[in-house]
Amino acid sequence: SVTFPQPSISGPALTADGTPIRLCANVERPEDVQFAWREGAEALGLVRSELLLGGQPIGDVSEQIQADAYRAILEHAGDREVTIRTFDITPEEMGVPELLDVEPRERLGMRGLRLGLARPELLERQLRALVRAGQGRNLRVMFPFVTSADEVSRATAMLQAQAERLGLPAPPAGAMVEVPAAALDAERLARHAAFLSIGTNDLTQYTLAADRSDVRVQHLYDPKHPAVLKLIRMVLRGARRHGRRVAVCGEMASDAALLRVLIGLGLREFSMAATSLRQAREAVRQCSIADARDTALHALYEGDVIVPTT
Ligand code: PEP
Ligand code: MG
Repeated sequence: SVTFPQPSISGPALTADGTPIRLCANVERPEDVQFAWREGAEALGLVRSELLLGGQPIGDVSEQIQADAYRAILEHAGDREVTIRTFDITPEEMGVPELLDVEPRERLGMRGLRLGLARPELLERQLRALVRAGQGRNLRVMFPFVTSADEVSRATAMLQAQAERLGLPAPPAGAMVEVPAAALDAERLARHAAFLSIGTNDLTQYTLAADRSDVRVQHLYDPKHPAVLKLIRMVLRGARRHGRRVAVCGEMASDAALLRVLIGLGLREFSMAATSLRQAREAVRQCSIADARDTALHALYEGDVIVPTT
């Protein structure tokens, strides 16, 4: 049975001046969902489907096994919103070696939604499994590693077509913004996407050309770099033009000072590791929107993050 948390940490987190901030959890396994609710998550903001399925190659996993895996997560969510991301993997992990590069260009080549569009039968299978699992649930589907509005409209049309084929309604489909091109063109992306979710892990590494797993350039990997913050602001503006919700689902949100910057930029929705939720809720409680705006403006124009000690 599904149980939801004690009242002290349920519902939206409120800033010092009473603005609701939606805190959600990134979850990879059904057995972790209950923990997320206990830690005060309002929803599951990012489920990385490739981690949910495990094993390789993922392209071979049947529609039925996929639908069961997605259902296992959704069953623990009652009517709460769950955002499942389609596979964000390489051809090797997908099991389509013919699309492997001779000289792999790590994370700049064939992966994420590109790979899904290059092998539509595999993406369609995943979308059918998601449509089936999402019946009667509050599911959203999200596409990773998007670089253009055209990709979003093609993937969304694919989702609609698969839902029609099954005679079932299609869940809303959103796009991750984790490549500078997607942030710069967010307004057009937002026309085709039901919602946007900013993946600051990748957005930081691509904006600063600093591989997040390369220790030699770790000192250059900085999510509060003004260039990254300016891109985030563009995403908010683009989403607003079309009345779309926008969240941040990268690690950045779990840092209290950076969470304040993001709130100051205008974000009201975050998804993070469930283990970070309590301290994020506390950080939200301690910040007012006016102070957060000052912190954000300073970060944008002076390049450093100052948190007032009140
Ligand atoms: C991101 O890039 O910020 C993100 C949330 O996705 P992942 O960490 O899975 O690349
Ligand atoms: Mg990413």
